[in-house]
Parts: sequence; C-alpha cells; structure tokens
Amino acid sequence: MRRLPMRTILLIDDDENCRTPAAEMLRRAQWHVIEAEDGERGIEMAIKHRPEVILCDLLMPRGNGYQVCRAVRARLELRHTKIIVVTGRDYASDRKSAEEAGADDYLVKPIVFEQLLEVLARVLPPRANGAGADGTEEAQAQDGMARLKFWGVRGSIPSPGPGTVFFGGNTSCLELRADGQLIILDAGSGIRALGLALDGEFKDEPIELTLLITHTHWDHIQGFPFFLPAYRPQNRLHILGYEGARDGLAATLAGQMESPYFPIALKQMPGNIVIEELKEMEFHIGSIRVDACFSNHPGVCVGYRLFTSAGSIVYLPDNESVRMPVHNGEDDDALPRTIEQNLADFISDADVLICDSQYTRDEYQAHLGWGHGCVDDVVQFAINNRVKRLYLFHFDPAHDDRFISGMLMHARDLAKKAGSTIRIEAAREAEQVTLVAPAVAAP
Ligand SMILES: [Zn+2]
Ligand SMILES: [Zn+2]
Repeated sequence: MRRLPMRTILLIDDDENCRTPAAEMLRRAQWHVIEAEDGERGIEMAIKHRPEVILCDLLMPRGNGYQVCRAVRARLELRHTKIIVVTGRDYASDRKSAEEAGADDYLVKPIVFEQLLEVLARVLPPRANGAGADGTEEAQAQDGMARLKFWGVRGSIPSPGPGTVFFGGNTSCLELRADGQLIILDAGSGIRALGLALDGEFKDEPIELTLLITHTHWDHIQGFPFFLPAYRPQNRLHILGYEGARDGLAATLAGQMESPYFPIALKQMPGNIVIEELKEMEFHIGSIRVDACFSNHPGVCVGYRLFTSAGSIVYLPDNESVRMPVHNGEDDDALPRTIEQNLADFISDADVLICDSQYTRDEYQAHLGWGHGCVDDVVQFAINNRVKRLYLFHFDPAHDDRFISGMLMHARDLAKKAGSTIRIEAAREAEQVTLVAPAVAAP
C-alpha cells in the first residue's frame, strides 16, 4: 500500500454557516477537506492542492463562482478536477452559465448531505472499494488487510549503539494502515524516522492521520517535536489520548516544546493539529472500532485494541503483569472488577498482542511496582487468554540484542512447555506485520 486512499475536496464559500457543516460532514465521510472563503483564495488553493472536487458557491466577494470555474478550466494540471457549483437560487440561466463556465454539476442550498453524496458519486469516476486509486490491484489489496510496522520498540530512553542495532534503539512508535486509515501508536523517538518516510511517500499530497497516545511518559511523546508531517500545512493530524494525572493531554504535549526545552512551540507547528482528550473507552477511527483499557502503570496509562477488518491488534506497551487472571467469559457482577480482570478481557482472543516485556523474572523481583512487565508473566497472560501472536515490546535500555534474543528463546520455551501454539516474536524496528482477513467460505 503506497498511499492512503483519501480524496481531497475544496469548499469555496464566503458563508461560514454553509461551509462549516458541509466540511464537517465530509470529514466524517473520510474526505480530506480544505476550505476557502472567497473566489481568489479558492483558485490559489485549487492550484496548490489539486483537489479531486471543488464545491463552489456562485455569489462571493473577490471572484464569483463563474470566475472560479473559468480559472480552473484554464489550467492543464486541474483538468481532472470536478466542479460542483452551489447556489441559493435555482435559475435556469444560472445553471446554463455555470455549465458554460466549466461546472460539472449544480446543487441548490441548503446542502442536503445525501444529495451531495449523490452528486459526488455522479461526477467522480468509480474506484475499487470506493476508496482505492483507479481500481488498481494495490488499492483492492487494502480491503481486509492490515499492515503494522514497528518504528520504536524500546522503553524509557533511546538507546542507540552497536549493541542495539538488530532490535533497534528508538522508543515506542508503531504505524498501522488498515481500512483506509493511517494510525500511529505513540510518539516515542521512532516517530522521527516514520515522519521522514511519510513525507517522502506523500510528497505534496496531504496526509491525514490519527496519533493515539497511550500516556504521556516521555518515552511515548518525545519524538513528536521531530515529526516532519506536523510541519507541513497541508496535513491534518488528529491526536487522541486521555487526560493525565496532573495535566491535560494538550498541555503536556505543549509542555515538552516550551522554551527552554525546544525552539518551536506546539502551536507554531503549521500542520493542522487537533488534540482531543478521550472520554469514552470505546470509539472509532473511520470504520475501525478502538477499545481502550487502563493498565497497571503509574499515572493514567491505557492500552488500545484496534478491531481492523483483518483482525484485532492489542497495543499494551506499559503494563505490570502481576497476578494476571484468565478471562473465562463469565463475570461475577457481585464483585468489582480488578484492573487485571479488565486486561484479561481486553486481550482475549486477539490476533496480535504487543506487550510490555521489559524484565526477566529475576530482574522483575527488583522492580516490583515499577509498572513494567516480566516476560514469564506476559507469556502466561497471552496463552491463558488465547492470543494468537505475541510481540515482546518496550525493551529495557540496558538490554542489548543478545540479551533480548535470550529473552525471546526463553519465552518460546515457556510456550512450548505449556503445549501452546502461540507464536512469539520480539518486536524489532522496521519489521512489518501483515494481517489478512480469513477468506469467507462460499455458501
Ligand atoms: Zn514507556
Ligand atoms: Zn510509562
């Protein structure tokens, strides 16, 4: 999958009361929406962003809709752009003039969203799965496939050096592409290289992504000031996470960029950044349902479970795995649920579990209550709850490649002795995991 199948629409209208609700509805329908408040600005933005569709008011200051149509039609690079004219009046002569100026279709205000979708379907060429580019095989392969990539697997602090070359020294960051979404899990130092890769891939095309933050310990946010897509004005970044124990999410993210720690403030980043504090433990990113669960870790920290069409992925980077029970599907309503019971439920039957495995059993005895996992407990926890594939994650900065390989061998031994078929790996920077939805049997 080379790039996200998101189409761009430019809304040109001086009436904010008409433009804003339309923009909101289109964003919810997975469009990348850009807006202009007059004709001149609209033409500038069309040239810069080359949208697939322009939705243009007819009567506006500084360039009316007819002028916009003529200016767009005069440019070779915008020959594929469709123009839908929107107006408060329904005169046959206006329709004819708009058509002559180069409009592809015509809508009368107020905009009814269903009608707008009908017009969009009429003017745009069909695409595979309604999302991919030009019906190519590449686009079709996106349906029912999820691709996960590790960009940082380390806990606490980046630990580069000859001893960590194989598994990598960057702190927590994963990239997930599934169901037309680009999702980043945590913004540890690994997000810097991810940003460079995205910038190279998308070039001038707008990127729309969601960044899920598990918690604001520094190893999960420290890379964000170096994330290149946040510096490009055409991009939209939606950052989601929960309020911390002391400060809100936005205040904590901005805090690490305040002077004298960093020369550019968060609010000076030119990318369109929206930070949203989550209130619910279940929400959606496009069609992907996401469940969150509080973990055994100091402060407010969650894990996320993402239900993609290709399978479910649990990301639980920071969690102390003591006394993990088994989820047997039966809950005793009379007893309050413990955090461990919630976690067992949360990971049960996951296709992939990426889990804090910072310590060996011996090391763990010296780090009780530090909020991190012990590999023996994590393996048992995953087996007990029928996880299919486990990735050991959040490695201690003191553990070099040889040590982590030893932890992995030990984990596999434990699974073998338990007679389990679970697949166990140690997460490794730049490694990609592909999930494919099982084929549906013919009736
Ligand atoms: Zn951490
Ligand atoms: Zn932490």
